Amino acid sequence: MTPSTDQRTRPAGFRRSLLVLVLVALVGLGGTTLAALALRNAEQDRTTRAVAQRTTIISQAISAEVSRYSASLLDLAASVGAQSSLEAAEFTAITAAVDRRRFPGGTGLSLVVPTTGDGIAALQTRWRQLGATNLTLRPNGGGLHRFSVLNKPLDGSGSIAGLDLSASVQVVEAMNAAQAGHRVTVSRAYRLLKDSDLSPERRQLSFVFVAPIYATSPGATDNGRFRGWLTLGVRGYDFLSEVVAGSAGDRVAVTLLDNESGDPLPMASWTPDVAVDRNVEPREVPVSVAQRTWTLRVEPTRRLLTDSVQSFDEVAWLIGLVLTALLVALTGTIATSRNRALRRVEEATAALRTDIARREEVEHRLRQRETELVGFAGVVAHDLRSPLARIMGYADFLQEEAYDRLDDMQRDFLARLRKGANHMRVLIDDLLDYATAENRTMANVPVDLHRLAEEITRERSGDRTADVVVGELPTIYGDPTLLRQVLDNLIGNAIKYTPADREPRIRIGCRAVSEGRWRCEVSDNGIGIPEQDRGAVFDAFTRVGGSENFPGTGLGLAIVHRIIERHDGRVGVDENPEGGSVFWFTVPERLPMRNLETQKQMS
Ligand code: ADP
Repeated sequence: MTPSTDQRTRPAGFRRSLLVLVLVALVGLGGTTLAALALRNAEQDRTTRAVAQRTTIISQAISAEVSRYSASLLDLAASVGAQSSLEAAEFTAITAAVDRRRFPGGTGLSLVVPTTGDGIAALQTRWRQLGATNLTLRPNGGGLHRFSVLNKPLDGSGSIAGLDLSASVQVVEAMNAAQAGHRVTVSRAYRLLKDSDLSPERRQLSFVFVAPIYATSPGATDNGRFRGWLTLGVRGYDFLSEVVAGSAGDRVAVTLLDNESGDPLPMASWTPDVAVDRNVEPREVPVSVAQRTWTLRVEPTRRLLTDSVQSFDEVAWLIGLVLTALLVALTGTIATSRNRALRRVEEATAALRTDIARREEVEHRLRQRETELVGFAGVVAHDLRSPLARIMGYADFLQEEAYDRLDDMQRDFLARLRKGANHMRVLIDDLLDYATAENRTMANVPVDLHRLAEEITRERSGDRTADVVVGELPTIYGDPTLLRQVLDNLIGNAIKYTPADREPRIRIGCRAVSEGRWRCEVSDNGIGIPEQDRGAVFDAFTRVGGSENFPGTGLGLAIVHRIIERHDGRVGVDENPEGGSVFWFTVPERLPMRNLETQKQMS
């Protein structure tokens, strides 16, 4: 069994709707993704710009601080160098104003002097005499020693006086560079010697500022001679946090890297509690620190941009998803209602088809019934003819042979009898004609309509005087008996429906209306037919208003209709502009084959 159209279209419609929904959802999600990506890109651009700004500020702050440390240390070194003979008390006085606030992250200031192994004892003795009474030099290894002979702690821890700074490669490097370059230098990152006692988590990477000291006292004999170094130890994290806390806050994470320690070594980091935004590349810039260069790395945290901006793409996603859902729902509703409407149309069409089929069936049955009825009427009329003939025969006999013997009342009865019988004859004749018009086998021979009309006019001239003009009428192919009936009925009606006080004026003519087709008209000056009744006069037994005073059965025009239909023509009636009616019919010059075949089937 093949599926019905309904069954096939329904899943197809459903699939189409589903496809549309999926497309709408995809477009919605695509749009949302693009919008979110665009927002995210814009946000990342903003973040990148903000990171760049912060980086500039922080690097400038670090540079400024380093310059300040260097300058301060150089000043101090100059002050120390200006002493003709430096004693512990003078060192204390020079560095008295220096505290942790001046050098954030600073661990201590040291006066460092070099000596070889031979000079250690003498150096210790000399500095004890100069005021460092408790000084005990603690050499480390061989070669040149660099002892901190005077020390001012800045971080609250104990003094490192007596420590041999040659133990630290990084410090030695910085000292050599300072001495060679006559300038302040900064060491590579390293762990402070004094921090070696601290717990691992408190040990920070540190660096040391080193300033060379030269004798500059006007009275001194060794003027210009190199005397040693002034060092300032600084803990990386403490330094960094002091410098960047204000400018970095919880918006960025900051790392200072020491480039010259093989792989860049993270020297100090400022890491807020807020998570770092990994979507944006960290920014790295070089920072000049005395003779060296550090790298400053700045990474944004999630708080760099305001919260509302941060969550822009999330909001875009949310709005996009809600809009997509609404769009899908709307499309779904439209598609569903469309499908529902289509289903209704299909159902209505199916119902209509069924209805039409039922009507055709009913019409067919009605036609059958009508044909049977017409046939039946014909049979009845035929059978009624002989008894009627006998009644009329006896009535005629009474009229001719016994009229004188009848009294007035009997004569009146006889007259009524004859009138009724006559009416019945007309009715029976019409019924028979009606049945014949439906069932009779049609001839198909040339019929001269002009001659036919002339004959009928002549026959009718006995009934009543009339002005009849028969115009041009063609010869057509058809059934002569039936066509005679048509003209006879129309001419008869034209005479009959003209009031007695008026002479009937009848015009009969035909004209070609198209290739091989004629239109014939019978016009009169009779009582006419009201417009609203004109459509009904061709129905059987229909007599319209105004005809009560004229005899008739209401079958004449129905017979005309039947006959013209069987000749493949149409009939109608119009108003005669000169008063009266114009009855018309169309006929082909030759009967079409299909009409003749229908005749054969019927016969
Ligand atoms: P009838 O036997 O009544 O004449 P017809 O079928 O010939 O039956 O005509 C039907 C009705 O049409 C008539 O009763 C009459 O009312 C109207 N009619 C027919 N011919 C004419 C005409 N020439 N003028 C006016 N009315 C007519």
